[in-house]
Amino acid sequence: MKKTMQAMNRVICPSCNDDHLILKYVATYEYSYILDSDAPGLKNTNELLPHMYDKREQKDTQQYIECRTCGISYPCYFDRWTERMNKKALQDAVNSAYLAKQHLDNT
Ligand SMILES: [Zn+2]
Repeated sequence: MKKTMQAMNRVICPSCNDDHLILKYVATYEYSYILDSDAPGLKNTNELLPHMYDKREQKDTQQYIECRTCGISYPCYFDRWTERMNKKALQDAVNSAYLAKQHLDNT
């Protein structure tokens, strides 16, 4: 099979061989506002402004790479983006997630 130069420079979906992949990062935060004499939150006086919280706690994070062509999603975890985190590393992550998925489907 022949590949174009453009395709070779991109991360390819192992399921459909297309290159329309997006990295998604879902995070859940809990914001706390202390109740005082005025609006909730010590920093709020007239109204509850969501960004003027007293405490923020990260509850959950989830990362995955999603293919916009076939809709498959590959769970992944990148805690930081470094120089080593290049196209090859991304392709390896997607490939191994794909293999793990296939293994799950066959059991
Ligand atoms: Zn795909």
